[in-house]
Amino acid sequence: MIAALLTFAALTGGFDTVPAMVTVSGANGESRVPVRLDESGAPVVPAPILLDALSGSSSISNGWAEVSIARQAFRFLLDAPLYMFDNRLRPLAAAASIRQDTLYLPFQFVAEVLPSRLGNRFRYDDRKARLTMVGPKSGVTAARAPDPTPERLPNGLRPGHIVTIDPGHGGVDPGNPGVFFPRGTREKDVTLQMGLLLRDELKRRGVGVQMTRTSDTLIALGDRGGYCTEACDLFVSIHVNSLARRPGYTDIRGFETFFLAEAKTEDAARVAQMENEAVRFEARPTESGGAMGLDFILKDLQLNEHLRESARAAELVQRQLQAVHTGENRGVKQAGFMVLTTARRPAILVELGYSTNPDDGRFLTSYGGQRAMASALADAIVEYLLEYERKTSGGNESGK
Ligand SMILES: [Zn+2]
Repeated sequence: MIAALLTFAALTGGFDTVPAMVTVSGANGESRVPVRLDESGAPVVPAPILLDALSGSSSISNGWAEVSIARQAFRFLLDAPLYMFDNRLRPLAAAASIRQDTLYLPFQFVAEVLPSRLGNRFRYDDRKARLTMVGPKSGVTAARAPDPTPERLPNGLRPGHIVTIDPGHGGVDPGNPGVFFPRGTREKDVTLQMGLLLRDELKRRGVGVQMTRTSDTLIALGDRGGYCTEACDLFVSIHVNSLARRPGYTDIRGFETFFLAEAKTEDAARVAQMENEAVRFEARPTESGGAMGLDFILKDLQLNEHLRESARAAELVQRQLQAVHTGENRGVKQAGFMVLTTARRPAILVELGYSTNPDDGRFLTSYGGQRAMASALADAIVEYLLEYERKTSGGNESGK
């Protein structure tokens, strides 16, 4: 008896016990819904089995799962512990997520959310692990109109934004060797750590994320931009700078953000050349040559429009990073980065600091430094998206 009960009090926010199975008693009779643990150890239930038992339905769009039960709509932000009900965003103990094409909902939805939000329709018996659906009272339907798509997230953003994060280098391409990084840590490791942290920070802010890589693997420079297509709002490539050995080279430190245009300074051209060298690790050469194709690409008007947006995003990133970074703000710069030529949307490349400087090296590889930078980058991106929304929605909402 006790053996069948697992204790996850800390994760379930108040539940003493989590059953291995929940009995759901609904219009279709009784069903048994298994309770599983997700990757973080939080209890979840497979939505198809639960919704079958409750005659509900679900659909997925723009990073949200909409679940309809008893004519009530619950919207779950995928991979973030939040749901929307009654036009309000509310916290959860665990996130809804999709694993192997199956939507999983937090166990808390069964034991707590349904009975508390729809108290006239649902009872949950903790001891018997049983969810009971009761009929509407004397023929009066308790149904309200389903929630419309939420208009705004708490931070003011419209839901549905997608940002592509590109952690530089990877696999056989280590990036720069990381002179002042801990032994064995190279540029490709720091860019991946930062990319994953930034992904989490953006999701927490309700922004969808597409990663060019989530593991130590090489993606061709010419392919990276392709992850940011029409539905993508911004492409963010993450790198770490370094200098060649020469007198005083360890003194230079700080962060800078690039957008794609003709390099204006020798140093900007140097950084672009250094990052473009990654092509030598690729098995097949990419079609669009880096600097060679740049003239042609810069004549593309659509891209020029994106350049304005890219420059603005770069500015906001620099401003936010300045608040947390211990090194110098080296400003917004422009240069011909091959990786940016393939993104057909606004695109920036951030050099987070110099691995050839001891202070930057320490900051870039510290957990605190990485967390602070990821949070600053996410704030800058949200700021950029808010500005972009304001700019583009002017005509649409003029009727009001
Ligand atoms: Zn790099």
